[in-house]
Amino acid sequence: MKTRYWILLLSGIFLLSCLCLYLFSSLAPNTLTAEIYRDGILIETVSLSTLTEPVTREVLHQGMQNRILLEQDGVSMIFATCPDNLCVKQGKIKNSLFPIVCLPHGIVIRLRGDTSPKPDAIAR
Ligand SMILES: [Zn+2]
Repeated sequence: MKTRYWILLLSGIFLLSCLCLYLFSSLAPNTLTAEIYRDGILIETVSLSTLTEPVTREVLHQGMQNRILLEQDGVSMIFATCPDNLCVKQGKIKNSLFPIVCLPHGIVIRLRGDTSPKPDAIAR
């Protein structure tokens, strides 16, 4: 009788925590992940929602330099040694519609919402 009580209680807690986890993950739409690509290869992924303060990333490659500012609400290229500087002029992006592209350096930064299921999580 007593064991049955504990099983009920524990399964109740378990179900409740599952429900909370499910609700939490589906109700938090504005969690963004920044992906930094160089020559089409993903070199770094930064979860913006976990940032407590803005951080910068330096991408150095064959004398080419790009400095990326990552903030909770978006990403911007703050410095680049490319000739056109279009990536810097693009300013801050806050959604996945338009990635920041530095064509001369082959750098692409795109944002992705965490709410869409990650392909690698499905494959596992
Ligand atoms: Zn550029």
